Amino acid sequence: MKNVTILGSTGSIGVSTLDVISRHPDRFRVFALTAATRVEELAQQCRQFQPRYAVMPDPMHAESLRQRLAQLGMDCQVLSGEESLAEVAAHGDTDMVMAAIVGAAGLPSSIAAARAGKTVMLANKEALVMAGRIFMDAVHENHATLLPIDSEHNAIFQSLPVNFADGLDAVGVRKLILTASGGPFRTRLLSELAGITPAQACAHPNWVMGRKISVDSATMMNKGLEVIEARWLFNATPQQIEVLIHPQSIIHSMVEYLDGSVIAQLGNPDMRTPIAYALGYPERIDAGVAALDLAKAGKLEFEAVDLERFPCVRLAYEALERGGTAPAVLNAANEIAVEAFLDGRLAFLDIPQVIEDVLTGMPVFEAHQLADILQADSGARSLARERVAQLRLQAEPAE
Ligand code: NAD
Ligand code: MG
Repeated sequence: MKNVTILGSTGSIGVSTLDVISRHPDRFRVFALTAATRVEELAQQCRQFQPRYAVMPDPMHAESLRQRLAQLGMDCQVLSGEESLAEVAAHGDTDMVMAAIVGAAGLPSSIAAARAGKTVMLANKEALVMAGRIFMDAVHENHATLLPIDSEHNAIFQSLPVNFADGLDAVGVRKLILTASGGPFRTRLLSELAGITPAQACAHPNWVMGRKISVDSATMMNKGLEVIEARWLFNATPQQIEVLIHPQSIIHSMVEYLDGSVIAQLGNPDMRTPIAYALGYPERIDAGVAALDLAKAGKLEFEAVDLERFPCVRLAYEALERGGTAPAVLNAANEIAVEAFLDGRLAFLDIPQVIEDVLTGMPVFEAHQLADILQADSGARSLARERVAQLRLQAEPAE
């Protein structure tokens, strides 16, 4: 029986994780659940899964949850404060941690799980983008097991030999091919992208996801973040990572070997597959996902990425080449720009503009510890907020 902590249990990945867990009551026990704002949803999850702890960082939300659980007659312990997320992630009675908080907010608890030597199922890609080297050092030094949940990285993990940590060259890998659907605007006229609304950007053709990653998919910054994520997970050089558009999202990624072989992982676009893979690892368990019907899918198509349409992919490669704190700056600027776009304060096409300006305006330095990363993150957020405000002023019609 494995005790599982789910950080971000009310989100898209969190709910899918609980769905897989509910199919295997003989294998998994839910140890802790955490959420930011949705009190009622978290209360209902507590009722169904009976965790020992429920965490809401905000004390007011935590108090509402306490009252609600008392009404439901439950004795689950409610914790509050940011530090409680890391506490349940690193708790001695937790075996596995699903890190599924969105954005930089997930970094401290994801890294706490790694430092405590847990089996870390990592959905929170922003943690690796921001602090790749520090995160991977924490994994290795504390003998944590890191299992990628992002579908592309999970596919690559499945397509690599088990000893890939010896180095990609040593195991005969030529390159990693990250597939990308291209999001909702792959074929839209460039002239129409200016007036895109949040609802249009969040309507992904193949995947149902949280709002932030949905916008990232529309700008393709999601793929940019995934290139950086792959660099750290698989110790690859930027030149060994290629992005390929595949609109059907059936091939989730591929590994090309020296002898010309290309090994891929295929499946329906349903996150329960990579989640079940990680939960059961190294065994295979039922995910509740329908069998892939390739005859019905009919065609699998591929094309190169258009970097003019998707400048965020270029920006991510540039930040990766610069190294140090540059990827943390890229991530912070992106989070601020996406939040402003979702709030109606920034035009869709200005998202890459804000990121590029912040990358140009911020100093980049080597990151030796988490504090260096957090300092770069906070500086980049301030500069990004200024740029968003300036662009907004320019966009407002003169009186
Ligand atoms: P979501 O917005 O649906 O859920 C986010 C979860 O994090 C919620 O439970 C929310 O309460 C919690 N949260 C948000 N802000 C928080 C904060 N400040 N402190 C504590 N908790 C907070 O997001 P999602 O789509 O489930 O994505 C989660 C992560 O998984 C992201 O990093 C995303 O990039 C990654 N991911 C998601 C998918 C997907 O299909 N949804 C696929 C691949 C990777
Ligand atoms: Mg992905």
